[in-house]
Amino acid sequence: MHAAFAEFDPGSYTIYLNGNNVVLETDGLPNHTSPYWSAASPLDIAPVCTTTAEMAPGDIDNFNGSYTLTVPQNPALASPSSTGLGPIGLAVSGSVIYNDEEGPNIPLDNAAGSLDCNGAHTGPQSYHYHLEPKAWSDDDNALIGIISDGFFLYGRKCYSTGTYPTDLDASGGHTSMTQHSCDPEYHYHIQNELYLGLYYILFPGDYQGTPNPIQ
Ligand SMILES: [Zn+2]
Ligand SMILES: [Zn+2]
Repeated sequence: MHAAFAEFDPGSYTIYLNGNNVVLETDGLPNHTSPYWSAASPLDIAPVCTTTAEMAPGDIDNFNGSYTLTVPQNPALASPSSTGLGPIGLAVSGSVIYNDEEGPNIPLDNAAGSLDCNGAHTGPQSYHYHLEPKAWSDDDNALIGIISDGFFLYGRKCYSTGTYPTDLDASGGHTSMTQHSCDPEYHYHIQNELYLGLYYILFPGDYQGTPNPIQ
């Protein structure tokens, strides 16, 4: 299996091969602190980047989120296609990745006040990330997770050069070496563009491969 899968938290994930596919199963629970945990959780903290008044309803522990994603072991580039609402990828922390929209015709800006310091909040179904998750990536090349088309998403910097890549396509993707692959391979980066003067959006672009359902 690809070396990057070793970084997915085994506390949340079961990852296995099925023929030429990799199956990822997660309980959807993040492995880090957040004000979105209930007071009963040892990972619960007071809000810093949001306020109690602005927080979205629902605690992380209230969700019975389990998600499965099956991707090809060797994903291929395809015609770009737009992402939709709901999970578009799985993060190494155990939780899911969303795009830059909050709902049908609701831009994320309207909900930005509810985001914790990991650019995440609770939604109708789960705790999910919209922005650079500071718990494990802050202006670096850390592995963020996998997008549903099978390509990995990394932080704003690239291991291959040690700095911000300059050859990215419209989805923040390019082909180069990573810390998990000696051979050049296609992968995405968090967009290195300030959002609301504070944040970095995880994945505002199109899929560059063929998306698979996360359910
Ligand atoms: Zn959201
Ligand atoms: Zn890169």
